Amino acid sequence: MKFSQNYPLKNLNTFAINTKAKYYLPISNVDELMELTANEVFLNNKYFILGGGSNVLFCSDFDGLVIHMDNKGIQIVDQNDSYVYIKSDAGVIWDDFVAFCVENGFGGVENLSLIPGTVGASPVQNIGAYGSELKDVFYEAGIFNLKTKKIGVYTHEMCRFGYRKSIFKNELKNIAVVLNVTFRLKTEPVLNLSYKELERRVKEIINPSVKDVRDTVIAIRTEKLPDPSITPNAGSFFKNPVIEKNTFDEILMIHPSLKTFPADEGKVKLAAGQLIELCGWKSKQDGKVAVHPNQALVIINKGNASGNEIVEFSKEIQDSVFKKFGVILEPEVNII
Ligand SMILES: Cc1cc2nc3c(=O)[nH]c(=O)nc-3n(C[C@H](O)[C@H](O)[C@H](O)COP(=O)(O)OP(=O)(O)OC[C@H]3O[C@@H](n4cnc5c(N)ncnc54)[C@H](O)[C@@H]3O)c2cc1C
Repeated sequence: MKFSQNYPLKNLNTFAINTKAKYYLPISNVDELMELTANEVFLNNKYFILGGGSNVLFCSDFDGLVIHMDNKGIQIVDQNDSYVYIKSDAGVIWDDFVAFCVENGFGGVENLSLIPGTVGASPVQNIGAYGSELKDVFYEAGIFNLKTKKIGVYTHEMCRFGYRKSIFKNELKNIAVVLNVTFRLKTEPVLNLSYKELERRVKEIINPSVKDVRDTVIAIRTEKLPDPSITPNAGSFFKNPVIEKNTFDEILMIHPSLKTFPADEGKVKLAAGQLIELCGWKSKQDGKVAVHPNQALVIINKGNASGNEIVEFSKEIQDSVFKKFGVILEPEVNII
C-alpha cells in the first residue's frame, strides 16, 4: 500500500492549520480498506478518518495514519412515482451531490446547499441548515467496520440521528468508515420554507423550484458565512445548547431577549451565536484568532494560528457564556 509520510494537511482542513500526518492514505474502494486492516502501519498506529476537514481542528501534528476517503460516484439506484433513491460514494463533495439532485429536479437536499465537506461525513453529525437535516432524506449507509473487518448496511433507525449527532459520532466513531450513502428524494419536490429568511426571499419568486431554493440558500450563506478558502474556519464552532425548559424560564427572567428553536418535549434549544454575541465576543480578536464579525458562532483563523490557540480562545468563550447564562457550550467541531 502506498502510504505518504509526513503528509501536509493544511489543504485538508478548512481551519488551514499547518499540520502533518505521520502517514496518509487515500482510499478508493472497500478492497483497499480490507487490505489496510492487515497492514502493519494500520496495526501499529492510531488512525483518523478524514473527509474534507471542514469539521475538524488539529491541535498538533497527527502522530498516526490519516485515512482519506476518495471514492467518487453517484448513481440512481431505484425510482417510483414518488421517490428516487440515489447512492453516492463517501468521497463525493457534498455540494456536488446537492447540485446533481437539484439539476435533476429531485427535492430534499436543496436547503443543505453549500455545506462544505463530503457525502461520507454528512450522516456523522447529521448535517443541517435552513430547516432541513440530513436525516430527512437519509435512506441507508454502506459502511466498513475497521474493528470487525466487515461490510455492513446501516438503516435510518440504526443510525440514531439527533441534533448534530448519530451513531457514527458516538459508538462507531473512528470505527465505521462510511463508504456510501443512499438518499431517498422526492420526484415531486415539496419546498421546505420553514426558515423565515428563506421563505421571505423565495416567496418573491413566481413558481419557485428546488433550483430557486438552492440559489437562495447559497446567496444567504455567502452573505452570512466566511468562505474558508479566504478566511479559514470550520463553520459553527459550538452546538446550539439544549437545556431544560425550567432552567430556560429562569434564564429568561434575567435575559428576556433570548431566541429559541424547537427541541424535544420539555427542552429548549438556545442560539449559541446569540449567547456569544451578548457576551460581547462578536469581532473580538486575540492574537491570530477572532470571532467572525457577521456570525458570532464562527471562530476564524486570522493567519497561521495553531490549533491550540484556537482551542484556548474557544475556552474563553465557553467560560464567559457559562458565567453570564450558566449554560455550557459544547464544541461542534471535532478537536483532534
Ligand atoms: C463555512 C462552513 C459552514 C458550515 N456549515 C454547516 C452547516 O450549515 N451545517 C452543518 O451541519 N455543518 C456545517 N459545517 C460543518 C461541516 O461542513 C460538516 O460537518 C461536514 O459534514 C463535514 O464534512 P467533512 O467531509 O469536511 O468531514 P471532516 O471534517 O473531514 O470530518 C468530520 C467528522 O466526520 C468523520 N468522517 C469524515 N468522513 C468519514 C467517513 N467517510 N466515514 C466515517 N467518518 C467520517 C471524521 O472522522 C470526523 O469525525 C460547516 C463548515 C464550514 C467550514
